[in-house]
Amino acid sequence: MKGLLIVDVQNDFCPGGALAVPEGDLVVPVINRLLDKFTVVVASKDWHPQASVHFRHWPPHCVQNTRGAEFHPQLQTEKIQQVFLKGTRDKDDGYSAFEATNLNLNEYLNSRGVTELYVTGLATDYCIKASAIDAAKRGFKVFVVTDAVSAVNAKPDDGRESLQLMKAEGVTLVDSSQVR
Ligand SMILES: [Zn+2]
Repeated sequence: MKGLLIVDVQNDFCPGGALAVPEGDLVVPVINRLLDKFTVVVASKDWHPQASVHFRHWPPHCVQNTRGAEFHPQLQTEKIQQVFLKGTRDKDDGYSAFEATNLNLNEYLNSRGVTELYVTGLATDYCIKASAIDAAKRGFKVFVVTDAVSAVNAKPDDGRESLQLMKAEGVTLVDSSQVR
């Protein structure tokens, strides 16, 4: 069974947001086109408390129950069956969707019979990298949909290098046109 994981497609990670991925919003139409190809669709959200040691490393973003933490308004959220909240405590965590605290993502995917996980969303060089590698370590066959992810590129090659690192960890890189 194939599952689709949508990572952190939230206002704060899109242009105009507190921690914007320069072209973060461009993943939204690509993800929307993929939704109908999957029986299991889940999403993660960065979901931080107002005060967190995480904000020593990052400008405050995705604070619980704020507009910045909402999904991008164009994302077709009605197709999302379960949302996994991560970074919910006063801790520098929540890079991987598998760190969600409201529910166990690994157990959820197993219970739905998911063996192949397609990873999309933001950002390639942080939460996509952490989530995809975590999924591969947990035994899922992992695909990162390269036109459905976008990088911060604090250093210009960060996104490209992250994809290569994921590949080295057993992740398959695919274009959305290859997803059946
Ligand atoms: Zn965060």
